Amino acid sequence: MKAVVKYAPGPGNIDVLDVDEPECGPNQVKVEIAFCGVCGTDLHVLHDTFRNYPPVILGHECAGTVVEAGRSVTGVTLGDRVTILGATAVTCGRCMYCSAGNFIFCKARRGMGHGVNGGFARYVVVRPDQLYRVPDDFTLEEAALSEPFAAAVQAVTEITRVRIGETALISGPGPIGLLCLKLLVAEGVKTIVAGAAGDDQRLDAARRIGAAVVVNTATTNLSDVVLEETQGVGVHVAMECSGHADSVRGCLLALRPMGRYTQVGICGRDITFPMDQIFYKQLTVAGSICYTAATWRRMMAIYAQGKVRLHDLVSASLPITEWRAAFDLCQDRKALKVVLHP
Ligand SMILES: [Zn+2]
Ligand SMILES: [Zn+2]
Repeated sequence: MKAVVKYAPGPGNIDVLDVDEPECGPNQVKVEIAFCGVCGTDLHVLHDTFRNYPPVILGHECAGTVVEAGRSVTGVTLGDRVTILGATAVTCGRCMYCSAGNFIFCKARRGMGHGVNGGFARYVVVRPDQLYRVPDDFTLEEAALSEPFAAAVQAVTEITRVRIGETALISGPGPIGLLCLKLLVAEGVKTIVAGAAGDDQRLDAARRIGAAVVVNTATTNLSDVVLEETQGVGVHVAMECSGHADSVRGCLLALRPMGRYTQVGICGRDITFPMDQIFYKQLTVAGSICYTAATWRRMMAIYAQGKVRLHDLVSASLPITEWRAAFDLCQDRKALKVVLHP
């Protein structure tokens, strides 16, 4: 089968190669990939700024159909439409983080798409516990957004715990920011979305999704808009989804005293920001990275309730042979979400 492979360590070293189809072991399930999303992590694997283990097939945001189940596997039916929790592909299962369900912090962990083979290919084999069945009315294309959506579910509902009646700021209208917005809008939470120069298309998407106000900080002062929208007191919660120093500052300034700040974006370097905002306003600051299996179960419940659909966030769907064009679309911040298909 054709697959997008990081074939050697270092920057670059990615190509479409012919590889053997994976064998389905007795405790495994073979899934035919329908769609697999491209995300910032893939770009980092390309540039070698995210840990990877070549040779490895890229892609960790998969959805597809079960085509084979090993003889010891129960509870899985051929034809099941599924999305895959790839991040648990390898964990030790014994450390204090694994035993508490917080596998993301396991030192032995290797996720699909950089640690073990991922979904930019026709087939993957996984353990049955990595599969989550998607509702019949969900397309597999939008189901491929489940992995980033799970990160949004954790950030909004489990870490920030946004409550009805609060006003939220999302700074950074990339895919994760827009997925957070989807949840907040579904809950009826008034949400301001801020972006920077070059974010116009994504801010338009935020408006369509249901942001109360969108702000391009290149032309408009965010603090002024926030004060106007919050009777002069600031937002209850701010979710930083871009990793830019200006955005971090904007969030800290926008928060009201005793507000909650959540870091969802990756800065990738040391930055300068007004620390005293945290002191004088007695802010609560948190980080949110990925999700747990419990988050994925919560996400499936959200899907089942029918309040959130994700198909309008897919702005391009390309064959895996055009991975380079797909990566470029992600890099230039114009596309919302790009998915590849075999
Ligand atoms: Zn991702
Ligand atoms: Zn562990």
